[in-house]
Amino acid sequence: MTAHKIKALIADWDDTITNKDTIELVAEAAYLTKPDFPTKWDHFCELYYSNYKEYTSYFGERNTIEQETEFQKGLKQIELSSVNEYVGLQLFKDVNHKAFQNQSSKVQIKSEFFETFKKLYDQNIPVIILSCNWTSVIMTKIFNDHGFVQSDNFKIVTNEFEHINGKLTGEVNDDNCIRTGVDKVFHVKKIRSELKERSINDGVYYIGDSSTDILPMLEVDYGIVIGDGSAIKTLERLNINYDIGMKGESKIKHITKWDELIPLII
Ligand SMILES: [Mg+2]
Repeated sequence: MTAHKIKALIADWDDTITNKDTIELVAEAAYLTKPDFPTKWDHFCELYYSNYKEYTSYFGERNTIEQETEFQKGLKQIELSSVNEYVGLQLFKDVNHKAFQNQSSKVQIKSEFFETFKKLYDQNIPVIILSCNWTSVIMTKIFNDHGFVQSDNFKIVTNEFEHINGKLTGEVNDDNCIRTGVDKVFHVKKIRSELKERSINDGVYYIGDSSTDILPMLEVDYGIVIGDGSAIKTLERLNINYDIGMKGESKIKHITKWDELIPLII
């Protein structure tokens, strides 16, 4: 299967477009706003990792797509227990959108990303960022600063905090609840049906870096793994073939840099 031109791209955010996970920067906005907040960030991290470790060892082997799907379904409770912890302790209450926007300068974007994205954007090729991050505010600021605005052809789909006029209430908005690979599959199916209404039936790509991205990748025409995150280990564990670089017969490709996609943009 020689890769087809890109007609639409669904992209993960953390570690796919960025060099590093940005949840810590999201959390830091709360601590910069409220330096005396009594519960330190370490508490939330430790709680998450201990729940995650317990769940993975309890779950056992994940060698098939069915097992991986079941694993991702169960992971939702672990992700939500973190959310419930910061909502319960009101970590984000009274934080302003401005505090998140100020964090945007600390986000490192992969060096060839904007060069590649600009080609898609300028040609009105739909790009949808689909992320398990907690807010779109930082992402939106980064794109706006580069001269890119959201439209029918460029959307950011992620979790959001509830806010009143840009000031957070401490609760999460439950319009989107994107916490696991299974949640991403739900959104990819929705995005695909919206693309079909616009007669985009093929050439739909998904790019991501982690195990959360494998199931959504299987729902599109081509899955792209970027970098050496947990996605590659997951593909190997599930015995799913992939090509190194964009050439070859597999539906899944492993690339190291965003500009490897440029030849697929008309
Ligand atoms: Mg990621």
